[in-house]
Amino acid sequence: MLVNEAVGTGRSAGDIDQIRRALKSRYDELTVEYDEAMVQSQVLRLVEIGDTAGDDQADSGTKTAERDTAQSLLRAILDRRAQFEHALHRLDEGTYGWCEGCGTSIPVERLEIFPAATTCVSCKQSRERRAA
Ligand SMILES: [Zn+2]
Repeated sequence: MLVNEAVGTGRSAGDIDQIRRALKSRYDELTVEYDEAMVQSQVLRLVEIGDTAGDDQADSGTKTAERDTAQSLLRAILDRRAQFEHALHRLDEGTYGWCEGCGTSIPVERLEIFPAATTCVSCKQSRERRAA
């Protein structure tokens, strides 16, 4: 089978379809989460604009913290969604399931837990060490 040869990890076309669906549905979930978080952060902003007049320092500090939390949540969702997008792209390319760092195949058990993983555990750890 052509697809099998292209992917080379012993997965059938049916498996690939299943992985694609799983990645896509997680991607869509993250899109919904993002939209919801976006609405939340806009509500926070409107509340902030609406009643800044009578605020003391402590109140506006809390609001800034809430807004920062909303912003970092939005960023985190976008990051995660980008990982799924990347994984889908690799699936199309036929490189899904192969480590981007060392080129070995990523254990199926790892992909089951982290379907968007693009590196094996040891490459992930060495990347994190470099980033730290
Ligand atoms: Zn690796």
